[in-house]
Amino acid sequence: MGSKKKPKSSRSKKKTKASADQALALDYVRAWAHPPPPEPSAAGADADDFLPAQASRGGGGGGGGDVLFELHSHSNHSDGFLSPTALVERAHRNGVKVLALTDHDTMAGIPEAVSAASKFGIRIIPGVEISALHNPREVAGAGEPVHILAYYGMCGPSRSNELDSMLLNIRDGRYLRAKNMLEKLNGLKVSVKWEHVTKIAGEGVAPGRLHVARAMVEAGYVENVRQAFNKYLGDDGPAYARGSEPSAETVVQLISRTGGISALAHPWSLKNPDTIIRSLKDAGLNGMEVYRSDGKVDGFSELAEKYGLLKLGGSDFHGRGEKHESDIGTVRLAITTLCCFLKMARPMWSAAMKDILLKFAEEPSAANLGSMLKFGRANFDVYSPINTGIHVVDFCLSSWSSRDDIEDVELEVVRLKLAHYAVER
Ligand SMILES: [Zn+2]
Ligand SMILES: [Zn+2]
Repeated sequence: MGSKKKPKSSRSKKKTKASADQALALDYVRAWAHPPPPEPSAAGADADDFLPAQASRGGGGGGGGDVLFELHSHSNHSDGFLSPTALVERAHRNGVKVLALTDHDTMAGIPEAVSAASKFGIRIIPGVEISALHNPREVAGAGEPVHILAYYGMCGPSRSNELDSMLLNIRDGRYLRAKNMLEKLNGLKVSVKWEHVTKIAGEGVAPGRLHVARAMVEAGYVENVRQAFNKYLGDDGPAYARGSEPSAETVVQLISRTGGISALAHPWSLKNPDTIIRSLKDAGLNGMEVYRSDGKVDGFSELAEKYGLLKLGGSDFHGRGEKHESDIGTVRLAITTLCCFLKMARPMWSAAMKDILLKFAEEPSAANLGSMLKFGRANFDVYSPINTGIHVVDFCLSSWSSRDDIEDVELEVVRLKLAHYAVER
């Protein structure tokens, strides 16, 4: 027996096993992310625009093959600078194949992102970053701000009215909060006008701290946004004000009830990450951010392992145009990470999809069809079961470009329930 050879052969076996796992994971992720064929009108126009994927700095150990996911990004529907279309174009230039748009407390940018993405064969994960508070003793005025990311399937959340009303509440609270911050700033002899802040936020966009900070920069009170946060608006700053955020546990529970996968955003900005992660795990948290563009942050990978959470990450791109900002698509998650993410998410997404279809079957109406296809690619106005001969279920599936993992038998139930829809319409 060659004792010298033994370690070598076991090492190479391990290596073979690891690369076999990676190959399987790559197949799985590719099969899911496989882009639908680009629409003919856009295919030629953007061919010259395409640049190869940028080399990644940091991230989850590389090996993402040709499937680059970006799981954290913002558009001008919250405090980002780019429209969803411009964001998708930039993601495409950076080689992103699957993009989660995760605006703060709104999913209003998703339909535009989905339609822009269809030109490039990019897959959009409908997402949202929900503002919450960790408030263990439910003491008014106490509690730490926590951001929870939610990722949904192509059909969006089931029971979407529950999610919508929570998000609306938070957004309403943001108006009040911004006003309170301006009041506090005025008391500190920093007079920023309300009209200035809402103009920066844009029409219909709930103002956030970043919008207030930008108004302060423009009015000349501070040199840059960072200074505005450091001196006034940071969590412990003299002009900080609270909104009406729900508790982080409530948010996590709502996400899982509505068929989404939940992840704690940027845990490195928390004062008590361990306590918060433990109580969120009890509430059903699925994952947490561990990777960011400048690499892994010490200690958080271990925390994710300790609590059995998916290790995720993203650039948190806002399009601020600042030098130190991480570009979209610069966190390259390992293919095995993406595989774990999808394997956990897909059963939830397919359950949500089934739920949505069955609810529609109970109450089939044009209005309900419209709202359930709000993140779909197709315009439901053109759908006519009589003229097209396409069953409404297949129409939905093609609009979502996905049937996730719904079994044929289950779909047949919905089809049967909807058999008379065409006639009634
Ligand atoms: Zn955040
Ligand atoms: Zn964010």
